[in-house]
Amino acid sequence: MALTRTRRLGVSSLPPEKTSFADMPDPAGVTAALVPAFSAQLVRWQKSHGRHSLPWQNTRDPYRVWLSEIMLQQTQVATVLDYYTRFLQRFPTVVDLALAKPDEVLGLWSGLGYYSRARNLHRCAQDVVRLHGGQFPQTAERLQTLSGIGPSTAAAIASFCFSERVAILDGNVKRVLTRLTAFSGDLASNAQERTLLGMATELLPRRNLREDMPRYTQGIMDLGATICTSRQPSCLLCPVQTLCLGLASGAPERFPIKTRKLKRSALSLSLLWAERSDGAVWLERRPVTGIWGGLYCFPVFAGEDELLAALPASLQDRLQAVPPFVHVLTHKDLRLSPMRLVLSARPARALQLPEDGAWFGRDDWIVLGLPAPIRKLLGG
Ligand code: SF4
Repeated sequence: MALTRTRRLGVSSLPPEKTSFADMPDPAGVTAALVPAFSAQLVRWQKSHGRHSLPWQNTRDPYRVWLSEIMLQQTQVATVLDYYTRFLQRFPTVVDLALAKPDEVLGLWSGLGYYSRARNLHRCAQDVVRLHGGQFPQTAERLQTLSGIGPSTAAAIASFCFSERVAILDGNVKRVLTRLTAFSGDLASNAQERTLLGMATELLPRRNLREDMPRYTQGIMDLGATICTSRQPSCLLCPVQTLCLGLASGAPERFPIKTRKLKRSALSLSLLWAERSDGAVWLERRPVTGIWGGLYCFPVFAGEDELLAALPASLQDRLQAVPPFVHVLTHKDLRLSPMRLVLSARPARALQLPEDGAWFGRDDWIVLGLPAPIRKLLGG
């Protein structure tokens, strides 16, 4: 019987401080009052107190900056450090990355999550080589034409590498700016987000752009990551505390305002962990879209009944249930129930397995792109 499945899934406690901006009636007025003090104070602070030793700093190489920006999306600095080093060792230039096999890129990305980033990264490298002669475009506008590069990532690359006067607006920066300006617009609205982007642009340095733009961009990132944190911002240590309208209001943590909450959902899946007596495991490549897109994975079923239905009766008795566990994705909790099936070489041949998979020994699967829970089960 062919191994088929019916459904493939596929504050600070500081007292309020009066500032002259507290009654500013409109965003333009607020930002005008903050210019140029905000950028000057931020640049000064970055020089003396910001982060300077991360491996993607102190360079104007767009390849390195781009790689770090993509890896840092939704991922902590501490997690990215090892991946970044390994990637650069294996792919020192954008040409090396463009020439890589997709499986190798996904393999090196394995465990970092959000695998569409890895696929876009590879596609982007190929486009840089094919369309731009191996050189990244030098403006945020043109950078955005490449796969996986959105407005904020493009702005980061353009400001760090080419000193373009353009604003980044990632989660950390939105938090800093909405607190700084006591921005009461709801960021669930695109129009309000555009207004905030306009304010962010107004606040950028206007002189000495070659040096100050990279430092300003790094400074606002550093401020959001280390001082103006989501909970309990360290306003006493903040270089712009005397300018901050959020602090003056007495409740900076009220900002940013965003009413639309992420909807979480749950999904239960059964996994067939088929293993040969020589230790090889059966892995199939997942469809490119959907959960774990493009990665190698145990066969996935909507439930135990469907898993059983896909096996010959003679093998069903040999299944061993592995304790189920929950794997948390951004929008979804995956409840995973693996069923292990250890086979001698002969019964393994008796399984008519689909063509999009294969048996992989440890030396082979260890370098593949695997979902984090599968790699953990395998002990890799
Ligand atoms: Fe506090 Fe500075 Fe953030 Fe304002 S910008 S809330 S003063 S940490």
